[in-house]
Amino acid sequence: MAKMSIKKGDTVKILSGKDRGKQGTVLHAYPAEGKIKVEGVAVVKKAVRPNQQNQTGGIVSQEAKIDASNAQLVCPKCGAATRVGHKQGEIDGHKTSIRVCKKCGAEF
Ligand SMILES: [Zn+2]
Repeated sequence: MAKMSIKKGDTVKILSGKDRGKQGTVLHAYPAEGKIKVEGVAVVKKAVRPNQQNQTGGIVSQEAKIDASNAQLVCPKCGAATRVGHKQGEIDGHKTSIRVCKKCGAEF
């Protein structure tokens, strides 16, 4: 499987499905599954029983996981939904893979 380049907190654009064209913030990333949850995307309603967090229970809306391949990263610099490249670099003294926008060359 290709390395997932989307991380929690990223903004992504949805490429397919009923939420196609929407942009949202990544709430969770699941690299092992190649899936993500995106705010306001693939929202499903779920019935919940009353519990300690939710005294009354009822229907809650919750984002479902979607394939990361159905979303494209939105560059924080130029705002384009873009493919990203990777390069090795260092952040705060740790060797890490830095993502590079293929449109504007921004590193993030
Ligand atoms: Zn860019």
